Amino acid sequence: MMAAENLQQRLVDRLPAVRGSYEEGVPLSKLTWFRVGGPAEVLFRPVDEDDLEGFLLGRPADVPVTIIGAGSNLLVRDGGVPGVVIRFGRDFARVEIEGARIIAGGAAADMNVALAARDAGLAGLEFLRGVPGNIGGAVRMNAGAYGREIADVLVEATAFDMDGGRHVIRRDQLQFAHRYSSLQEGWIVTSAVVQGASDSPADIAARMDDVSSQRQSSQPTKARTGGSTFKNPDGAKAWELIDAAGCRGLAIGGAQISEQHCNFIINTGDATAADIESLGEEVRLRVRETSGIHLEWEIRRIGVPGGGA
Ligand SMILES: Cc1cc2nc3c(=O)[nH]c(=O)nc-3n(C[C@H](O)[C@H](O)[C@H](O)COP(=O)(O)OP(=O)(O)OC[C@H]3O[C@@H](n4cnc5c(N)ncnc54)[C@H](O)[C@@H]3O)c2cc1C
Repeated sequence: MMAAENLQQRLVDRLPAVRGSYEEGVPLSKLTWFRVGGPAEVLFRPVDEDDLEGFLLGRPADVPVTIIGAGSNLLVRDGGVPGVVIRFGRDFARVEIEGARIIAGGAAADMNVALAARDAGLAGLEFLRGVPGNIGGAVRMNAGAYGREIADVLVEATAFDMDGGRHVIRRDQLQFAHRYSSLQEGWIVTSAVVQGASDSPADIAARMDDVSSQRQSSQPTKARTGGSTFKNPDGAKAWELIDAAGCRGLAIGGAQISEQHCNFIINTGDATAADIESLGEEVRLRVRETSGIHLEWEIRRIGVPGGGA
């Protein structure tokens, strides 16, 4: 009897009291660029670091926790995400300048960090202008573009482990590589300190405009997409391998390899997450057959297939 009651208990009733909000069954398709995927069993929006810490300290140990940012490098499977999905509230979007350093909350948009740096006359962050994610996701993914990446500008990041422990992690402790950081799986970046070099705002603005127009001409920036699907293998470009394997324009259901940039998958309107993932796996297979190279997903895939969470 007791066991049956426990099975039926709603997850939200087992979670600690917080100042932020819990919402059940929130469709994650609304929170990701691909616009696909099932619901979060519970979505938690902490109001600040203390709220997040209280949640992590008080959560039942068996409840899985997943952090999402702007959802620009994320494929949520159709069955949704069991457990608690965390998405930061507004307090985490702050951007502050201290001398040559910028302190950005985990939910600060990369573009806002780039614009703040420009206004403060700090060069070196122009590449963030066109990356459509948040700073937490940028640290996790070592976001980069046009020859620069987070690893080049990061001083330190603050992150919480799953037990509520707070860690300040220096750049040299993160072992950055192409679209990779050694940040422990599950850790949640609440803020980052990045550094720029003094320059004139007008020169910085001109370089940012260049970044912007290069991007517009080479990428489907307005499409429902997850950005680069696969990491560039050592010494090769993923898009060239995909093109050589004849996959440009290839489609499964509502998912299609972009005609403009063939390392991008597009949701043409009614794709499911399963369409997108199957198309990615088909491309990996064809590239392996034509070049012998194993492409590795850059897009993070979370949740469970089909059904419900
Ligand atoms: C049109 C388009 C263009 C893009 N161009 C580029 C580009 O030029 N360069 C580039 O590097 N990327 C690019 N991307 C991919 C994406 O913008 C980056 O990877 C970005 O850093 C992801 O940040 P996000 O906040 O959207 O993270 P999400 O997509 O929400 O999550 C990605 C991963 O980061 C984790 N994560 C998110 N927030 C946190 C946090 N606070 N703490 C710890 N982990 C976290 C998630 O759990 C997940 O594993 C592009 C995407 C699109 C759609």
